[in-house]
Amino acid sequence: MKIKTGDDYRQSLKALGTEVYVLGEKVDDVTTNPFTRPHVNCAALLYDLTGDPGLGDLLTAKSHLTGKKISRFTHIHQSTDDLVAKVKMMRAMGRKTGSCFQRCVGHDGLNTLYSVTYEIDGELGTEYHQRLRNYLEHVQEENIMIAGAMTDAKGDRSLRPSKQTDPDMFVRVTGRRADGVIVRGCKMHITGAVNSHDVLVMPTTGMGEEEKDFAVSFSIPANTSGVVMVFGRQTNDARRAENGTLDLGNAAYGPVGGEAAIFFEDVFVPWERVFLCGEHRFSGSFVDRFATAHRQNYGGCKAGICDVMIGAAALVAEYQGTDGASHVRDKVTEMIHLAETLHSCSLACSYEGAPTPSGAYVADRLLANVVKMNTTRFVYEVARLVHDVAGGFIATTPSERDMNHPKLGKFIDKYFKSKNGFPAEHRIRIGRLIECMTGGTTLTESMHGAGSPQAQRLMILRRGNIEEKKRFARELAGIPEPGES
Ligand code: SF4
Ligand code: FE
Repeated sequence: MKIKTGDDYRQSLKALGTEVYVLGEKVDDVTTNPFTRPHVNCAALLYDLTGDPGLGDLLTAKSHLTGKKISRFTHIHQSTDDLVAKVKMMRAMGRKTGSCFQRCVGHDGLNTLYSVTYEIDGELGTEYHQRLRNYLEHVQEENIMIAGAMTDAKGDRSLRPSKQTDPDMFVRVTGRRADGVIVRGCKMHITGAVNSHDVLVMPTTGMGEEEKDFAVSFSIPANTSGVVMVFGRQTNDARRAENGTLDLGNAAYGPVGGEAAIFFEDVFVPWERVFLCGEHRFSGSFVDRFATAHRQNYGGCKAGICDVMIGAAALVAEYQGTDGASHVRDKVTEMIHLAETLHSCSLACSYEGAPTPSGAYVADRLLANVVKMNTTRFVYEVARLVHDVAGGFIATTPSERDMNHPKLGKFIDKYFKSKNGFPAEHRIRIGRLIECMTGGTTLTESMHGAGSPQAQRLMILRRGNIEEKKRFARELAGIPEPGES
């Protein structure tokens, strides 16, 4: 592993110099810019904790290609144990960061490509899988971070990619050369994009015969000529430009993953980095496999985030003297139940995982979609309960600057304190953390990350085997099968 520590990682990002914009200005250094820095810190922590004895083997794995010890974020799952370890790693990291640590998207992308390219080659005699293996070896050796980029701009949602007025609404191949292809388009809401080394692009939907140019997958360095990124705004992000950290709530790691829009302006991709180009029938497999992999995760990272929210609720109740109240204990119990249910389902879909023809394991598809569906509800419910327990002060408290004001500070210390023995500052710090974790972006990510709930409903209905369930009911009710008398 060439990039070993968080500082190695920061240095590598400085050297990379991806073209990134925030608030209309070009960012000189994503590791120090106040808008992007927390997300860099969050990913850097993963590097620092790799090999941490307290985390055991969760963050490392043995490469099936080289036998070397590698970051789990570059590993291809070789067993259901690997799938389970991914979920446990994510819960541990969710607890430590209270945020989105971003590397999972590229990890899921690599696993997706590993199995799907194997199947394409098996059917069509192409050479995508060998290319992917070569690329994977490089990724594992260098220990680079990859941004998985699936969601396109999409334009008019009622129209297929090939029917859009502007064909660039879905990333597409605009030219083919002897040494590679030219691509154009945009990928939206891409987690960790501005602080990743490579961008791995996958199709966002199944493609038809007339959509061959949109059936494209590739991975390129983030600083490739023609790649431009614009960092998305987040709730309360203007506070990052102020002096002080208290008002940020989670100053070290920020809320969720630091998403960006990536524009590809006629970008050249060499053939050795192209993993799908025109074989439209396989586009749907990328989407299905990736969705399963990423939906599997949410009972890991989001359960970890719920753990932090539960701890915050318990602390604020203690500070305010309400921790003994039966309704507060009941709400904390409910939050724990929700977090553990979320986690249980992630574990279940991992234990029920199965090998693909490539040997790479994938989680159970139905259960992975149930995980994500739970996430769209349970994280909101946990957030609602934290708000309930904490009280309105999380949305009305004066700023850190007011706390430091020579005249105002004493009032805030006196009147924002609750129970003796707990200073006002501690109560406000927890309140800000709750505000940060429940104030917008975390919740939206729980709803739409890894696909919107309607996508999960479709998969749940498709894989729920209604015909089999009808048979169960008919049998017990004594109704003959259709066609039988
Ligand atoms: Fe990883 Fe969770 Fe962030 Fe997705 S939302 S990248 S699974 S931490
Ligand atoms: Fe996500």
